[in-house]
Order: sequence, then structure tokens, then C-alpha cells
Amino acid sequence: MPKGRFTLMGCGGSAGVPMVGNLWGACDPDEPKNRRLRSSVLIQTEGTTLLIDTGPDFRQQCNHYNVNDFDGILFSHEHADHTFGLPELLVLRRMHKRRMPIYGDQITIDALHTQFPYVFNNENSHLYPSAADSNIIEPYKSFTIGDINITPYEQDHGTMKSIGYRFGDISYSTDMKNLEQKSIDTLKGIKTWVVDAGAYNNADNYVHANIETVYKLNEQIGAEQVYLMHLPVTMDYQTVQAELKEGYHMSYDGLTFTDINLT
Ligand SMILES: [Zn+2]
Repeated sequence: MPKGRFTLMGCGGSAGVPMVGNLWGACDPDEPKNRRLRSSVLIQTEGTTLLIDTGPDFRQQCNHYNVNDFDGILFSHEHADHTFGLPELLVLRRMHKRRMPIYGDQITIDALHTQFPYVFNNENSHLYPSAADSNIIEPYKSFTIGDINITPYEQDHGTMKSIGYRFGDISYSTDMKNLEQKSIDTLKGIKTWVVDAGAYNNADNYVHANIETVYKLNEQIGAEQVYLMHLPVTMDYQTVQAELKEGYHMSYDGLTFTDINLT
């Protein structure tokens, strides 16, 4: 049974913390855990390396964690804070002399091809040989990359659907405001849930979950430990952590879960 590492390379909201202009909002600049890159996850076993999303901080995250080769890059959805690092794959194509396999639902893959046609075109081009191979996934249809089993599930992201991913005992739900019953059922049995709570105490947010929604969903899901992510400048690490129920935690960049069952 492959055990692995699950590393949050970034847990920030769409603008990161601090935002451009050195805007910290409610976050204490002296608390290192408030410094947040855009959301992305690195998942590693002995033989397999996966990534979820390539946001605008992708280059910095890869260099910090010293990773540059992936058996698969999974995409949650097409929003810029999750995709705008994709052209960095052109550099990795030159380095490894092969195309990187990427995975997403049809809508997301189509959007990536529209946003970054030069990443996918011209296999024979000297300037930009094709850097990615696209694989279409379907919600609730499990698949395997290397020794890691992956179950994608649909999420309500307000204006669109996004995709969450379950790997054995852990699941990652970025960019969602709620889950339908089929997705809740898919998550039953996990031990750890890493979940968007970017709206925190704002029940009017149209695209991100608030904490009451997360509490309510987890009454059914039953994860022992829940880590809040996609955190904006309104959510100071220490302030919010002190307000959470037992078993609920603020995430921070570099948070790593080791010895996780990923099948
Ligand atoms: Zn989004």
C-alpha cells in the first residue's frame, strides 16, 4: 500500500498574501504563516510525483521544493490563480525533452488550450515544441497515475463547477462553495480534508465556502482533521485558528502530511 507525502505549496486565495502593493488586510505581517502563495499541492510517493494546479506562483513553488518533473498535473478548474503558471512547462519540456501529462475535465482542458495555445501546438517548432499532453477526466471515475489512485468529484464553485480530488485517506477541495450529495458520499471515509473556506464568516460569498458550510458538510463526511485553505487577507492565522472548533485548522504554506495512505 503506497504511503506518501502531501505538501501544500500554497494555501492562499486568488490574490495571495500579501496582495500586490504589500496589502496585508487583517493578516499580521509578523506571523510567517500569514505569507501565502497561490494554492497548489504536491503529492509524492516513492515512485510517483503529482501536482494540483499551476498558479502564478508555480515557478517559485517548484524551485522552493526542488521539483521539476511530474507524472501528472491535475487541474481543479480554469481560473487564473490555478492556471497562469502553465507556460512554465515550456521550460520543463526543454529540460526533460518530453511533454508533461496534464489532467482535467473537458471544460478545463478546453480553456487551457484557449488560454495558452502555444503550450500545446507545434510539436515540431524550434521555438515552442508542445509541452503538455492533455487527458480528459470524468467526475466520479477513478483513475491511477503511477501508484496513486485518484477519484475526481464535482464541486459547486458558484459560477461554474470545479473538480476536487480524493487520494485514499486525504481529499483536496479547492475553490468550492458547496458539495452535492454524490460528492459528499465520495468523501466519506477520509481522515483528512483540505478544503476551501475562503469566505470564512461571510455567508454571502458566491464562490467560496464559509466555515458554517464546512462544519455542516463534515458532519456527513466525518474527516477527523480538517484544514482550511484558499485563505485571503481577511483571515489572520492566529485570530481564526483560535475561533475554530476542535479538529479544524488553518493551513499554511509548507504544511506537509506524511505517511498518508494514497490508495
Ligand atoms: Zn476559482
